[in-house]
Amino acid sequence: MSGSLQLCATPIGNLGDMSPRILECLQNADLIAAEDTRNSLKLLNHFGIHTPMTSYHEYNKVDKAYELISKLQEGKNIALITDAGTPAISDPGEVLVRMCIEAGITVTSLPGPCACITALTLSGLDTRRFVFEGFLPREKKEREQVLKNLENETRTFILYEAPHHLRGTLEDLAASLHEGSLRKIALCRELTKKFEEVIHTTIGSAILRYENEDPRGEYVLVIEGRDIESIRAEETARWENMSIPEHVAMYEAQGMDRKEAMKAAAADRGVSKRDIYAALEREK
Ligand code: SAM
Repeated sequence: MSGSLQLCATPIGNLGDMSPRILECLQNADLIAAEDTRNSLKLLNHFGIHTPMTSYHEYNKVDKAYELISKLQEGKNIALITDAGTPAISDPGEVLVRMCIEAGITVTSLPGPCACITALTLSGLDTRRFVFEGFLPREKKEREQVLKNLENETRTFILYEAPHHLRGTLEDLAASLHEGSLRKIALCRELTKKFEEVIHTTIGSAILRYENEDPRGEYVLVIEGRDIESIRAEETARWENMSIPEHVAMYEAQGMDRKEAMKAAAADRGVSKRDIYAALEREK
């Protein structure tokens, strides 16, 4: 019988956040796959865990996954830990999980610290609907595309960022998002650590702040989504001064057929489709 892969969340800065269940799992596993074995050795030594360890990181994530899967198929239980936080969130664990699922291996997750959720709860922003974007791509074209997709995002969104890229990311957000400088942002750093700091501000003010101060530590940025009312107002402004035939034509130009365009125009104006039809007939 195959063993299972156990995803073990580890502290993001405070050792007190290591759960007893995860300690037990790490103790009993046949093998621990760790993103950085030197880093994890300190953590495991602190808790007196001497389970054998192997490395699983960005640069061996596919080849090593095959190796780990054959051990799992031999019946070994493997615990996966990353440098900090929940495995598979912005780290190579994602690939191992997918490959294990495809190979029919049981995967379980032992929940614990995760920087994005910790930051979201501290942001004071809307937590009911949110999007996790991880790190923005560094490659220019890809980055522009992601930023474009975020321009009108109405849900709260979360980014990870390293200190040396923070200024550039704030500038890009201010330039790309609708009314970017005015958007609320929570800059969360050193979470769960002694000098934990959450700065509630706007993107524009954060840019000014970091003109005089060097960003320090790893950051989670939680950003307010675009106000849905402003999108509605913009959409209304687009057709407000149009006649009904022009309004229908606008939707047809966007690729809708006549029936769909009439329906959309009727919904915008809060009138019936029959009214739209009558206006089109009058125009003939
Ligand atoms: N798997 C991890 C998790 O569950 O959050 C994330 C791994 S990702 C490679 C590392 C990023 O997480 C950092 O660059 C930073 O953006 C964020 N992060 C991790 N620990 C943090 C902390 N204590 N305070 C603020 N951000 C943190």
